Formats: sequence, C-alpha cells, structure tokens
Amino acid sequence: MTGSYLIKGATVVSVDPAIGIVNNCDVLIKEGFIAAVGPDIAALPDSTIIDGTDAIVSPGFVDTHRHTWQTQLRTITADYVLSDYFVNIRNIWGSCYTAQDAYIGNYCGALESVDNGITFLIDHSHIMNSPEHADAAVRGLKNANIRAIFCYGLYENPFWEGSCIDRELGEKNPNWRREDAKRIKKTYFASNQPTDLIRFGFAPAEIERGTIEQAVDEVEFGRSLNSAIITGHVAMGKYDRGVHLIRHFQERNMLGPDLLLSHCASLQDDELVAAGKNGVSFSSTPDTELQMGMGHPIAFKARKYGCCASIGIDITSNNPADMFQQMRLLIQAQRHLENESHDGPRASITQRCAEVLEMATMGGAEAVGLKDVIGSITPGKRADLLITRCDSTRLTPVHDPVAALVLYANGSDIDSVFVDGKLLKSGGRLVGVDWPKVRGELRDSARAIMERSTKAPRERIEKAALAVMKGLREKEEPKIKL
Ligand SMILES: [Zn+2]
Repeated sequence: MTGSYLIKGATVVSVDPAIGIVNNCDVLIKEGFIAAVGPDIAALPDSTIIDGTDAIVSPGFVDTHRHTWQTQLRTITADYVLSDYFVNIRNIWGSCYTAQDAYIGNYCGALESVDNGITFLIDHSHIMNSPEHADAAVRGLKNANIRAIFCYGLYENPFWEGSCIDRELGEKNPNWRREDAKRIKKTYFASNQPTDLIRFGFAPAEIERGTIEQAVDEVEFGRSLNSAIITGHVAMGKYDRGVHLIRHFQERNMLGPDLLLSHCASLQDDELVAAGKNGVSFSSTPDTELQMGMGHPIAFKARKYGCCASIGIDITSNNPADMFQQMRLLIQAQRHLENESHDGPRASITQRCAEVLEMATMGGAEAVGLKDVIGSITPGKRADLLITRCDSTRLTPVHDPVAALVLYANGSDIDSVFVDGKLLKSGGRLVGVDWPKVRGELRDSARAIMERSTKAPRERIEKAALAVMKGLREKEEPKIKL
C-alpha cells in the first residue's frame, strides 16, 4: 500500500541531530517520502491517519551484513565456532541449495527482516551454485519489497555427488560467476542509483583467504561493474592470519567509501586510521563475533578513529534478524569491556544507548552510501520507518524512548513498518503475505536441504574446508575442489 499517511501524536526518535526527539509529533508520508515532521501537521485529502499515541516512530534499521539465503538453516549454528560454520554451512548445506531454495531463503529472510523493523539489508550473497541461483536470490529480495544492496558473491560452494552445483558449467568456465555477475547487473540493475529500492553490489570470494593479488583483482573487477558497495570478511579475531588487507590496499591507493568490511575486530591502529581517512566503513555482527571467536566488535573503537560503524545480523542460522538484540549485545559487551579494563569502578558510563541506535540506523545508511536517502526521520528522505507501540508489559511506561528501543523492545512491539513509503507491516502483521502458506514452503525447502546434506562426503569436505580456513596463501594449498 502506497499513498499518503499521517502519523499523529507519536514520540519521534528522529536520529537527526537537527530534529532530535520530539513528543506529541506528527509525521507525514507522501509519495514515498517523509514530507513533514512536527506538531499539528494537516492531513492531505487522501491521507490515511495512524494514531501515534504511546508509540515511537524511528528510522528503519539498516543491516549492513547478511547472508540472507541461510533462512532455512535457522538454529543450526547455535553452538558453533567459525570453523564449524565454515565446514558445515559454507561447504555442505550451501551446496545443497537449489535455485528455488535460494529464492525462498532470500524471500523469507527479507520478510523476517521487515517484520523486525529492518528496512534495508546488505545481502552478501554467496549462494551462486548456478546462474539461476543468482536470479532467484534477486527475485526473493524484490518480492519482499525490502530496500537492499544485492552483493553478488564469487564464492564457490564445492561440488560433491548429490549436491546442487552446476558442475558442467564450472568445468567449462571456472570464471562463470564473473560473467554472470555482469549479466545480473545488466538485467536487474541497469540504473543502480541511490534511490533505487534494490541496487547491485559485489562480494569477492573470501577476500583474506586467497592472495593479495586475488583480492586486488576481485575488488577491481567489482569496481568495473559500478558496484554500489563491495563487501568482504576482514580481520576476524582469532582467525586473522595477519594478512593486513587494509595496509595492502592503502599502498595501492585502493581504499574508498565503496568498501564495507565486516567483522574487522583485529585491525591495527594504522589500519583504522587509513580506513577513517578514506571513508571505509565497518559492519560489526555482535552475536556471531562474540560467539565464534571473531574478536570483540570493533564498532565503538572504530568510531573513535573517525570510521563509520554499523551493525549486521550476519546469519539467521545463528540468530534472528533482530536489530534490537544486536544493539543490546553490542552496547553491553562494550560497557563490560571498558568496566573490566578500568582500575576500580567507573564513575559513569561513557557509551550511551543513543550511540548504538545511531549505528543501527544512520551509521548503516552512511556505510552503504545512502546517508542522504534513509537512516533518519528527516523531511525529504525516503520513508523507511517503524512505529513501535509502547503498550506491552515490557514497554509500559516509557520515560526514555531511546532506551526503550535499545534495551526493551522486540519485533512483536513493532506495529507498522514502511519501506519507501509503502506499508509492509500494519497492526503487527506483514501486509500482503500469506504467512501460513509461505511458512509451509519454507519448511518443505528446509527438509529437502537437510535430506540432500546426508549425502555429503563429510570427512573429505572437512579436510578441504579446514585447509582453506588456514589460508590459500601458502602456494600449494588445495583449492576447495572435491
Ligand atoms: Zn559474513
């Protein structure tokens, strides 16, 4: 549903310093834009009026690191470290996805996001088992009406008997994904402008697992396609092999604002300085980083170096697409770290809830090159926003709306979600989605993936995958061909 909407009498947490937090405030949405923010705004003749009493209007959350296809694998990695994840998810279950599974994973992953107030996501999509998978993944995002950058991933899921990999194509042309990335860009993303709902981005295979020359080559290729964003996993704490990609890129003058690097906990000070100077952004994923040994989230530290910090959900095989959860985890982990490193008790807390809310909204918008388009409740921006009702037992009463969002709310408190002025969730329900039917298809798809995975030659896969984890930089280490 598009059109005009007038939200009346809400508490607006704008995340725009010029507007701030305004009580008893109206928000007018018109033709996909936020048209006005303030008291007593007059309705347009065709405005649908939404009562904002005891509700918070805030910008939609911006998820800057997600592998959206993994929706069918929910709960599987709960007790994993990163190497378990790499072996099982990236080398077994990933190879079990048909194109239709990729569609359902992306569609349902985007629906889950919208349901939980995430209005934008970076889809770091490494599920290209065939060209049809790429089409299906794009279609899944499009059909959910979410705002996104689809980052075409070069990563090659391994073939084994019973997997869903197009082996013939791989043998004929090992570089088929590059050709296919060009095709996808041309087919779906000809304009690729900031205001387009879905844009094209690029994800090198595994940017720190190959040689520097490979990383340079892949990033240059991504740039040759006019990718909106190029994203990759970097400096992953205990798994960091001392590659120092940022130093190498700086020497080659390759750092720039199109680079969005995820994790990055083990970056050195000089790398943070270089990133800050060159507009490189970071995505911290608190759940997976804290659990899997990827180091302490870099977000707060990165901001001290003038870098843009944002937050990602990463994988719903591990945690839900819930930005409330990630904000909470990020700020409390940081407070803990600084409390522990202080000599005696601290006199006050230095990390404020507003800071982490900013990372989850404006920080994300800046990280993905959309700071003038989304990220705050500002007239002239596209209307990506949520209405959180403060009626539940956990949200009555609210004295501090920022704390309510960061430390109390969850997805079930979200009444309405707008993306590009379109109402995608209303009255606590997704609009135009037959969820019981979709849920049935999702369950069927998950069952079939599990069934296929039983055929995987687990031992061989594990050996090859762990060799890749250790790094391909040692010359004769194996390619993950099985
Ligand atoms: Zn990732």
